[in-house]
Amino acid sequence: MKKSKTPTFLLELPLFVDAGQAKRLCAHFEAARCLYNALLGEAMKRLRAMRADPAWQEARAIPKAHKQERKEAFSRLRQAHGFSEYALHEFAQVANCTWIADHIDAMMAQTLATRAYQAANRVCLGKAKNVRFKSKGRGLDSVENKWNKSGMRFVLDPNAGDGGFLLWNAEVLPARIEWRDAVVRHGLRHAIKYARLVRRKASSPNARGADSEGYRYYVQLILEGTPHQKKKHTVGTGVVGLDVGPSTIAIVPQQGEARLLPFCEELQPDARAKRRLQRKLDRQRRANNPDNYDEKGRIKKHGKRRLTWKNSKGYLASRRRLAHKERKLAAHRKSLHGRLVHQIIRHGNTIRTEKLSYKAWQKQYGKSVGRNAPGMFLEHLIRTVASTGGTLSEFPTQSTKLSQYCHGCGSYVKKPLSERWHSCPCGIGPVQRDLYSAWLAAHLDPPNTVPSIAQDSWEGAELRLQAAIEVLQQRANEGQALPRSVGIPRAGARLPKSLAPNQQELVYRRGRLEALGEAQEPPVL
Ligand SMILES: [Zn+2]
Repeated sequence: MKKSKTPTFLLELPLFVDAGQAKRLCAHFEAARCLYNALLGEAMKRLRAMRADPAWQEARAIPKAHKQERKEAFSRLRQAHGFSEYALHEFAQVANCTWIADHIDAMMAQTLATRAYQAANRVCLGKAKNVRFKSKGRGLDSVENKWNKSGMRFVLDPNAGDGGFLLWNAEVLPARIEWRDAVVRHGLRHAIKYARLVRRKASSPNARGADSEGYRYYVQLILEGTPHQKKKHTVGTGVVGLDVGPSTIAIVPQQGEARLLPFCEELQPDARAKRRLQRKLDRQRRANNPDNYDEKGRIKKHGKRRLTWKNSKGYLASRRRLAHKERKLAAHRKSLHGRLVHQIIRHGNTIRTEKLSYKAWQKQYGKSVGRNAPGMFLEHLIRTVASTGGTLSEFPTQSTKLSQYCHGCGSYVKKPLSERWHSCPCGIGPVQRDLYSAWLAAHLDPPNTVPSIAQDSWEGAELRLQAAIEVLQQRANEGQALPRSVGIPRAGARLPKSLAPNQQELVYRRGRLEALGEAQEPPVL
């Protein structure tokens, strides 16, 4: 089937599932898991065979400049070893037999095959190191169809009080539809491309709406069209420059209020609670399995025999609680990201920012990147900007070097990471460096690598950037802790009175506060 190119959006509705249905759904999901693993195993087998083929090395030896030749060689190999989505669909037809076929129809088997192929293909393309089979304990938590005509499908029944139902095998699962909700109303007016059934663990089997296994069920409708735009989310027309950091984001529109915000601040208490739970879990694990640790408290190296672990009831409860906390944290983060996206788009939907290497960040600022997920935020922003018809341009850091640039004299001076303020002998500054980069980004027209700044625009901008800092200054005066990278110390607050570069600063590195020596300086962002 040819992939449709029409715009798509998603609507999620909770499902009412009774105990009998929950049990049967569990069996369906288990069948889907087995089939998925079988397909994934087959895909990996074909991949290994393809890579072991001498022709594979020959194809790899073709210089990259000979694009066409290389492409043909690889596609011949894929054909010969049946490593393609289509070939795996055919295999799915064969594999979907005996008891599994009672649960999974042909269409759904195809979608599982596609999923397995995509996972294996990531390994083939070097984008992933390995695939992950779905274990029985964790299971598969979503299944989807390809269309809404047969198999698993969602129907609206005007006769049953405007109810909506997910039909799968013999089950009829009623959905909870809040017709007063504008988002739901908007969604259900659109054509359904296909439906996806998702289950998520609730905090416990006793949680509201959870079945005896502790799952809640949802239907995700994949709809044709564009998502509902809430009235409160207006779209501006200006140009906005961004400077995204691991723990802060600077938002500077060409005109209008500039802001420097700590990223996902509200997540901090949640993150702390999560960490406490993790430590509790570790203590419980040690108490339950004293023999698995050596005298220094390290997990013993197992030789041939694997270590066996005993899990107490209390341990399992903590583990559930931790998993729940993690899900909550992720959902909270997503909503904070959404809020931030709309705050940015209110200024304008032409957005400019430097392209950043999130991989490198992960190494250096693992903790804040893990908590704040700036990469995910940017993806969210890209999607939303596209849906409003705007543009988001990311330009490479190497060619623009905005953090080193000074528009006053046009010079590039490398700053150490600890220096959070831009202050140039030519008279520009002092100005907070993230805000300054964002302001420069707002004035950069992508093919150019040098911002084009009109003579008098700096005067107004300097005040705006100053105002953004004053907001944070106020907070620091009240004794609130801000990310180090803002460059404002906590209470007793004073602006760094000396902007001298040799002042020793503390920075976050690998999640720890460390003094930043001159010698072991991390690369400038
Ligand atoms: Zn200068």
